This record gives sequence, C-alpha cells and structure tokens, in this order.
Amino acid sequence: MDIVSEPITKNPPITFETPIINSSTSSMITPSSSAISPATTADSISPPTPSRYENQKRRDWNTFCQYLRNHRPPLSLPMCSGAHVLEFLRYLDQFGKTKIHNQTCPFFGLPNPPAPCPCPLRQAWGSLDALIGRLRAAYEEHGGRPEANPFGARAVRLYLREVRDFQAKARGVSYEKKRKRPNNNNNSNNNKPKPNMNAMLIASSAASSTTTTTS
Ligand SMILES: [Zn+2]
Repeated sequence: MDIVSEPITKNPPITFETPIINSSTSSMITPSSSAISPATTADSISPPTPSRYENQKRRDWNTFCQYLRNHRPPLSLPMCSGAHVLEFLRYLDQFGKTKIHNQTCPFFGLPNPPAPCPCPLRQAWGSLDALIGRLRAAYEEHGGRPEANPFGARAVRLYLREVRDFQAKARGVSYEKKRKRPNNNNNSNNNKPKPNMNAMLIASSAASSTTTTTS
C-alpha cells in the first residue's frame, strides 16, 4: 500500500527552510536543535524576522480562512472553487484604495486626473495578482492538492487578466511585463516603460569595468 503520512512531500513548507536565518546563528542553535522537534520550532523560537513575504502570506491565508468561515452558506477549504476565489476578490474590492475610473468618467484613461470624481476605489491589479500568488502557495503548504488549487483555476487567471487590462485603460497606465514592484509615484516615468536593452547592457558592462576598483 501507499505510504500514509506524506501529504506535502512535493511542496515542503517554506517556513522550515530558513537558511538565511540559520546561517548566521547556526552555531548557537545547533546544540539544542536536536532536542526541539521541527514541528514546534516555529512556535517556540519565533525567529526575529520571518520575511515580509511569509508574514504577508500568513495574514492573507488567515483572511481567506476567515472569509470562508463567515461565508453563507459556510464553506470548507476542500469545497472551495475558483468561483469562490473570485467572490473573495470582489469582496476585497470594498477595501481597495486605487481609483478606477468608469468608462463614462471624463477622466477615464488619465493617469493624473485634474479633479476628484465619484468613481470607485478598488484593489489594484498588482495587489490582487500578488495576493493570489501568495494564497496559491499557502493552499498547497496547508496540504491542498496542486491540481485542485482554486487559486490556480483558469477562471481566476482570466479574471486577473481582465482586471489588468481594464485598469490599465482606466488609469491610463501600462502594465508591462517588467517584474518590478509597482511604484507609487506614477508621474515620473510613465512615458518610458522600458529602457533600451542595448543601452542597459552597455551601461552595465561599462559600470562593471569601472566600478571594480571603487570597492
Ligand atoms: Zn473617474
């Protein structure tokens, strides 16, 4: 028969692999590490800073579980589908802080509107996209099967793409493929989304040849 007790061997929890913290303090930890079972270390030791991503992921997961508990009718995790994830995302919109102009608004497509307007505040696409990524990982870390992951559902991907395209038009910004963090001062470099790749290569090679002596 199958081995029973390895539900998440393919995706070991990230919380257990913390080489960044251990590398500096391993000499102090190693003597006692054998006495502490791996399951309790996270709770008993409380590492100094578990990384912002891990914290955020845990908060997001708690929020989602809370949402499931308050759902009418109540939802359990295994029952959760992509449709419920979409419901959750729309629910989050009421807490959004990004002005998304309606198509009928005179400021539709203007990155810097000259006056206030009654258009709704929503969750920015970048926030939703990152959120789904974290929840998708958290789902599998909590034992969910990857093939059943509602955060990876096609409907969710399509929804996010739709939101991205509409918000790009409504806000007059372009979401390029660049994997940068969205910066808030969107008036500085809207017109040049991406510098010339050749120029970057030249600049970097020049920089590397000159900066070797500086440090
Ligand atoms: Zn508006």
